[in-house]
Amino acid sequence: MQVFLNDKLVPESDARVSVLDRGFLYGDSVFETLRAYGGVPFMLSTHLRRLARSADALGIHIPISIDELRSAVMSTLEANSLKSAYLRVMVSRGVGPPGFDPTADTTPTLVVLARELSPYPDEMYTDGVKLIVSPVRRNHPQALDPSIKSGNFLNNILAKADASRAGAYDSVMLSIEGFVAECTSSNIFFARDGVLHTPSTGVGILDGITRGTIIAQAHKLNIQVREGKFALRALMEAEEVFLTNTTMEVMPVRAVDDRTFRPGPQAKRLREAYQALVHHAS
Ligand code: PLP
Repeated sequence: MQVFLNDKLVPESDARVSVLDRGFLYGDSVFETLRAYGGVPFMLSTHLRRLARSADALGIHIPISIDELRSAVMSTLEANSLKSAYLRVMVSRGVGPPGFDPTADTTPTLVVLARELSPYPDEMYTDGVKLIVSPVRRNHPQALDPSIKSGNFLNNILAKADASRAGAYDSVMLSIEGFVAECTSSNIFFARDGVLHTPSTGVGILDGITRGTIIAQAHKLNIQVREGKFALRALMEAEEVFLTNTTMEVMPVRAVDDRTFRPGPQAKRLREAYQALVHHAS
């Protein structure tokens, strides 16, 4: 595998990052996950804009321009001869003097990884996935704003571990106030009386790029969308529930704790609309 490290492609065995890198020491980094279809990363500019916003929010300097970053992503895909791929772009604050003052002089580290995408099993889309509600709450925006896609992922990791221990695919995470927020690496939608509901960004979530695309597609399909603050009870009373993220697109949910759901028509229609968009772009 060829990895883009800082300013050039290197073989994986030479792609080394210092043990003093602040991404490793403190999770002091930002990242994006992208999916490429037919050799074309879907919504590349939107992802790179979000990366720049996350980096800005933390005062991390991206060492190359956005145009150069775009070229770096494309050359990493090409160097690995990948068409259908999972891509990860990471920028850490890099290595600096001892101590964790982020205003000290550091040299940022940039990594672009591309791997063959392992598709999710078809049964997940036909049957839906099982979720639990984790006792681990999503970070409060005044602690670590979930709209920043940072490498500090521990609260999501704890919630994912809860799900694994319970034999579930993932956990629904609530905000500190108890509103439905999102899952550990996806946004959540539910339908009630034909109206699509999804937590608003004000709840404290990652403003998913797939989430935004799905909301736009829903509008086109004349599906009413309500973004807001929803209690867990509203989710439990839904007719259907689904998740969205870049790699899995639209994934139906078959259970949240003991409440079961049938994969429903809205997830199906919206996944088809999403795939049509992807097809058009690649
Ligand atoms: N929420 C969280 C916490 C995530 O980590 C992700 C993606 O990894 C998402 C939502 C979905 O975001 P996107 O649709 O941009 O992939």
